[in-house]
Amino acid sequence: MRDALLATLAEIVGPRWVKSRAPELVAFDADGLPGYRALPNLAVFPGSRDEVVRVVQALAAVGASFVPRGAGTGLSGGALADDTVLLGLNRLTRIIEIDAVNRIARVEPGVVNAKLSRATAPFGLQYAPDPSSQSVCTIGGNVAENAGGPHCLKYGVTLNHVVGCTVVLPDGTETQLGDPFGESDGYDLLGLFVGSEGCFGVATEVVVRLVPLPDTVHTMLADFPSVDAAARAVSRIVATGIVPAAIEMMDNATIRAVEASIYAAGYPIDAAAVLLCEVDGIAAGLDEDVAIIRDCCMESGARDVRVATADADRVRLWQGRKKAFGAMGRIAPSLVVQDAVVPRTKLPEVLAAIHEIATRLGVQVCNVFHAGDGNLHPNIPYDANDPDASARVHAAMSEIMLTCIAAGGTITGEHGVGLDKLPYMDSLFSADTLSAMCRVRDVFDPERRANPGKVVPVHACKEWHGTTAAPRARRTVS
Ligand SMILES: Cc1cc2nc3c(=O)[nH]c(=O)nc-3n(C[C@H](O)[C@H](O)[C@H](O)COP(=O)(O)OP(=O)(O)OC[C@H]3O[C@@H](n4cnc5c(N)ncnc54)[C@H](O)[C@@H]3O)c2cc1C
Repeated sequence: MRDALLATLAEIVGPRWVKSRAPELVAFDADGLPGYRALPNLAVFPGSRDEVVRVVQALAAVGASFVPRGAGTGLSGGALADDTVLLGLNRLTRIIEIDAVNRIARVEPGVVNAKLSRATAPFGLQYAPDPSSQSVCTIGGNVAENAGGPHCLKYGVTLNHVVGCTVVLPDGTETQLGDPFGESDGYDLLGLFVGSEGCFGVATEVVVRLVPLPDTVHTMLADFPSVDAAARAVSRIVATGIVPAAIEMMDNATIRAVEASIYAAGYPIDAAAVLLCEVDGIAAGLDEDVAIIRDCCMESGARDVRVATADADRVRLWQGRKKAFGAMGRIAPSLVVQDAVVPRTKLPEVLAAIHEIATRLGVQVCNVFHAGDGNLHPNIPYDANDPDASARVHAAMSEIMLTCIAAGGTITGEHGVGLDKLPYMDSLFSADTLSAMCRVRDVFDPERRANPGKVVPVHACKEWHGTTAAPRARRTVS
């Protein structure tokens, strides 16, 4: 059957775009979270929307499961195709239309996030959601994960910027969700699709909202002698009513990693934490916002607040933040990037608890995160070949997740559940809620062939007929 399917797929996309040998498939055995590895059975890369439809129809005809994949930068193991078909969307890279008058763009799913804003800049417009992976990740992957980013504090996440989507359902039928020119009638199926992590079908065309580039931008770097003081400053800033474009926090371990790397941004290496704050908009009033934010930081105990004046200085400050995960590669060969959300007011106590967990278990945690949203990213560099270190990292990750839940938070702000967060779903949701999620999924994918075994634990879907096996992806963090 595999040979017959290979032949059918090769006929649709051309033999060059079907991969079936292990050495070819190994390039797709992980996403951005290298703790999980699993080989696809085969990989297929359609080159057009029509080819995606025909590929999905061919898979449906033989009942084959599949996993959509964009750039593979996901951080929850979501794009792993464990012995199933990997459906790569990275050849669909056309920006089909920029409609500057109506401020929308129509794009294929493989368009890289940063390329879209570069293409719209000459029209004075931007695509606002800006994940730190934006130089690589795709709009299709952003839609599937409901991606966020530093500037989503002011502008909103992907869901707030997608107005229409063409979707190939797992049975091979095409459907249009949303309405680019107004409110759609009926149920908000687009809202359900955004963030569905590849389990509801394949996005083949996305219509996004564009927003004007700001007139003026001021970027500030505040330097704190303690993480606690920086966390208190965040609450103080938000309480003023100002909505900064971004408030990002980096702790000392992160600052040192960045400053030792090619992304060195001039952060003070003796600071316990820095806040990177940005305000943008029309020039009038922005200086006043800068002064208020500066006061909030100083009153919370900041040693200094520096305002970047030149564009080059701003770019450098942001590059340090956006490349911080990469800079951590200097500390150890592997990195676990965690993602959780806590109420902003709980930041000081949760950060203290994370510090205590890390010290007790002998792991190094580097915190770099979207502080304005309370969206934490505790990162743990480690050596995946060391079983003892791996066990301690795994224990620390679990404790951190449960601490965030206990603080009234949740297990993902933007990276999705994928495989990595499956064990926590039972702690967060009742059996009835998980069962309702399974029933929603049935509407899109009654055979559960799209990205099987992700997001909702399989046992929660036991009432569903024709069950798919639980994921078997090998976890190297044991
Ligand atoms: C250094 C670094 C920094 C990051 N920073 C951020 C950040 O600031 N904010 C943030 O939100 N995330 C961040 N991420 C995580 C990641 O980049 C995002 O989740 C991104 O949206 C994934 O896009 P992708 O194209 O790589 O998708 P993939 O990893 O290929 O896939 C992710 C999920 O989307 C599904 N999928 C992909 N394409 C489609 C499609 N066309 N139709 C249906 N389903 C699809 C896949 O099945 C999978 O479940 C970061 C990752 C890295 C490595």
